Amino acid sequence: MSHAIDSLCPTHPVIQALFGGTFDPIHYGHLHPVEALAHQTGLKQVILLPNHVPPHRPQPEATAQQRLEMVRLAVQGNPLFTIDTRELERTTPSYTIDTLESFRQEFGENQPLAFIIGQDALLSLHTWHRWQELLNICHLLVCARPSYQTRLSTIEMRQWLTQHQIDDPALLSSKPNGYIYLADTPLLRISATDIRQRHQQGLSCDDLLSPSVQKYIDSQGLYRQ
Ligand code: ATP
Repeated sequence: MSHAIDSLCPTHPVIQALFGGTFDPIHYGHLHPVEALAHQTGLKQVILLPNHVPPHRPQPEATAQQRLEMVRLAVQGNPLFTIDTRELERTTPSYTIDTLESFRQEFGENQPLAFIIGQDALLSLHTWHRWQELLNICHLLVCARPSYQTRLSTIEMRQWLTQHQIDDPALLSSKPNGYIYLADTPLLRISATDIRQRHQQGLSCDDLLSPSVQKYIDSQGLYRQ
């Protein structure tokens, strides 16, 4: 049985956690694993960070404004989540590491800071700009995701994981950055790609995202073609 860290260790410093994504649209596969992760690790707050998608990448179907509105609707009334729009407000895209550096500056050097990703993102992390410096700024918290292998693809990454991985999430609040925690979160076979395809085919997405987001998608006529 898992315990909330809070009940075990009432004096730990608060960990600030960030969760970035395209959120085209935001769905239960984003929210439920992160809620479970928060319970396991004692996170009080998760800052959702809708991404600015660079022009040379496949563009989201929804506009930045629509993606942000869906994020707002999805977490309305849920005290775990707040939203930060700094990436969307930029006129040029930034690398994740730049965004993390801006949060680090804001929070100060002693604040435990964590960046949340799914297992698929961990597998491709070595393609990210300055990926080896990420742990100089934050911890990495990884949510399980079905259909993705658990073994990292290169020796360099496997060594990096071994050097930084912790099994006890209570350690996350003991230093500002530098740990990787692979969380045992619920496996949800949900992706935004699948949701967009289901809408195109006129199929129901009732169990995949929140009713308020579904209503918004319908009202905006999103993902129909
Ligand atoms: P798409 O299908 O358009 O690629 P996506 O559903 O993977 O989108 P993103 O917005 O790209 O969603 O993902 C943001 C973050 O959420 C990433 O770190 C990703 O690994 C994680 N994530 C997305 N879906 C899940 C899921 N079902 N389980 C665990 N993590 C997830």
